[in-house]
Amino acid sequence: MKVLVLEHSRLFQKMLTELLEELGCEVDCVRTGAEGKEKIEHENYNLILAGQHIFDESGMDFARCCSERQGSCPIILLTSEPNEALMKNAHSAGITDIYPKTNFAYLRESLRYYIEGATKINIEGGRVIYIEDSRSVAHVVIRYLEKINLNVTHFTNAEAALESILNDDYDLVITDVMLDGPMSGISLVRMIRAHRSKISELPILAMTGHDDPQRRIELYHAGINDYVTKPPIEEELAARVNNLITSKRLLDQVREQQKSLFDMAMKDQLTTCHNRHSLAEIAPKYIHDAIKFKSALSMLILDLDHFKEINDKHGHTIGDQVLSNIGELLMGTSNRGDFVARIGGEEFAIMLPYHSGEAALERAEEIRSMIELRKPASLMVTASIGVASLSEKHGEDFDLLYKDADHAVYQSKKNGRNRVTFYHEHDVANAV
Ligand code: GH3
Ligand code: MG
Ligand code: MG
Ligand code: MG
Repeated sequence: MKVLVLEHSRLFQKMLTELLEELGCEVDCVRTGAEGKEKIEHENYNLILAGQHIFDESGMDFARCCSERQGSCPIILLTSEPNEALMKNAHSAGITDIYPKTNFAYLRESLRYYIEGATKINIEGGRVIYIEDSRSVAHVVIRYLEKINLNVTHFTNAEAALESILNDDYDLVITDVMLDGPMSGISLVRMIRAHRSKISELPILAMTGHDDPQRRIELYHAGINDYVTKPPIEEELAARVNNLITSKRLLDQVREQQKSLFDMAMKDQLTTCHNRHSLAEIAPKYIHDAIKFKSALSMLILDLDHFKEINDKHGHTIGDQVLSNIGELLMGTSNRGDFVARIGGEEFAIMLPYHSGEAALERAEEIRSMIELRKPASLMVTASIGVASLSEKHGEDFDLLYKDADHAVYQSKKNGRNRVTFYHEHDVANAV
């Protein structure tokens, strides 16, 4: 960014130059309006900082000359005594902003914000879908967008664009209103907003040839986020596009954080299985569905044998490694619809929808023998498993089903471990 500083005091010139160079600007300094005028005759600046003497004779001349020569270049007035009259004069002379000279720290931050904000528009990797049927307008707008590092996909009709929106990942939709083909820009906006998927949340910027308030209102009602008239001003378009894409990215970030917080709350960190809390949430739904659709449902509870000895002999870290390996094995061998949770230190539960008692026993035996063969951390590890199937006596009570499976684990332990036991009512009666 090229900056011209018009300032009497050499010391203040020096301070400003250092600050501006630190912000990556190229700086020219002059002391009088006449020198400033000379400079702007030959150079183009992105920003002009001028001391209050811009209002002395040569300064006024300079300000006039600026608005003629430098067009949209902002002029910031640096003053030690801002007052109402000065503000009025400043605005009529075309000054963009007034910053106090006396508080240098504030000045530094304001300039940093101004310059970084003005130069920062670089939306690396942003993907825009742009619908415009006028090739000449499209040519200019695409150039503007590519200058801020956006990747632009251009369509001349809404039908093809909608197809692409459904199949690709975009960060922003920019659409003209009158388009080639039967679907207008407004219809496209409505279709996007009404869609039952993530695309309904895409930011949309409308671009139209007529600045008609009625149309604008209609577009906002249809669901656009922002609006520009054609031909767009490059900087305005860049700023609006930047705002929309930045907000979308922030929202995406918040959603992702929310999801990872949710995962953290519902998943066990060591084994990546679900946790006890998530089993308590999901199991009643499994039971409800099984009853509603009259389908079978079974559950396994699995408890590693003599795990305390593994910790005692090999240390807690190896113990953790074993748990993580077993979790991996259980997750890796589960089918779609199965629900694997770590419910305690070395205990796991598996919900098996559509599994009769027989089918669940078979799965349990498979799991038991896989664990025996796996040798996590090169150690012999075995598990005792209990199996219970949902029956009428359980009703919708998950705790009852859980209790039965737990009782079956207890039987496996009692009968020598490394085995599978199916819960039978009469076993309990005999045990008592
Ligand atoms: P049993 O065959 O009767 O089940 O014997 P066991 O030793 O497996 O059972 P017990 O309940 O006596 O001990 C379980 C051990 O699991 C005790 C505890 O230190 C260990 N443990 C619990 N959570 C973790 C964990 O996150 N990491 C490790 N390394 N050990 C754990
Ligand atoms: Mg058009
Ligand atoms: Mg245990
Ligand atoms: Mg155990």
